[in-house]
Amino acid sequence: MNYGTIATWRMAHDGVIKANELLQNSGSSDDALEITVKSVEDYPFYKSVGFGGLPNAKGILEMDAAFMNGDTFQLGAVAGITDIKNPISVARKLSHEKFNSFLVGQGATDYAIEEGFEEKEMLTERARKIWSNRLDDIKKHNLSAYDGHDTVGVVTLDKQGSMTAGTSSSGLFMKRPGRVGDSPLSGSGFYVDSEIGGASATGLGEDLMKGCLAYEIVRKMKEGLSPQEACDQTLYSFHDLLTKRYGKAGAFSLIAMNNRGQWGVATNVEFTFSVGNQEKEPAIFIANMGNNHSTIIEPISQEWLDAYEKRIKAPIK
Ligand code: ASP
Repeated sequence: MNYGTIATWRMAHDGVIKANELLQNSGSSDDALEITVKSVEDYPFYKSVGFGGLPNAKGILEMDAAFMNGDTFQLGAVAGITDIKNPISVARKLSHEKFNSFLVGQGATDYAIEEGFEEKEMLTERARKIWSNRLDDIKKHNLSAYDGHDTVGVVTLDKQGSMTAGTSSSGLFMKRPGRVGDSPLSGSGFYVDSEIGGASATGLGEDLMKGCLAYEIVRKMKEGLSPQEACDQTLYSFHDLLTKRYGKAGAFSLIAMNNRGQWGVATNVEFTFSVGNQEKEPAIFIANMGNNHSTIIEPISQEWLDAYEKRIKAPIK
């Protein structure tokens, strides 16, 4: 029986391990997805998702998340939710609502509280310091405010053949209050159909939304392309199109898995991800853009992992 989990960035790896243990024991793709995302949301040193995430320009941590089941197409999403421990769980709950399944801002937070989801002050002292240092730097050095973002995007497949996709993100650091990216938007940040496969995105939401790339990858897999072919053909041609028509393409990366547990990724920037399936234990890889619309994928080195660990935990003055 096939099963698997693929997720964006090195930060997802511990969650992917937990998810695949569950899937191996015949757990559901929905539960596996939630476990993966929660483990990232709960970890204080990841600056772009959940607890410890970086705030908007006003110092408020606004979070986006989405959850989609590929059997029924039920999907739920939140955007700009504040001080709720696990936005992904709220999105999952909303996926069961026939109406009002995508809530934003105070409405999303109120819903979560009413439904008994755990409230928590999500802005850490460390994130607040990074924010206030950044404010100074922006003033002094005229830097771009919008540096630093990474969404956890996940696709899971269970032994019963069900698939789930989802995302969680604090969006762009220093974003305008109310700004929403691709992550909670179906077709852009994620999409899944259990009869085909699923995909999810990370990167500059403003540009990802211009291409609806997650949906496009699933559509190409339906036409018979492998996940890797679908990712390569979708991402690099959109990168070229955007460069031609809009002048510039932001950084973005996509992951995909089909309903046999085969997977693929494409990216226009250095990109790490974690993946495991019925054949191989979860492992972290690093991907880069290759020649002629291809992707170079290599196992991560210990050196890279050590430097990453040091970087995310470095003291903040
Ligand atoms: N896609 C996210 C957003 O634009 C950020 C990221 O994944 O880097 O909100």
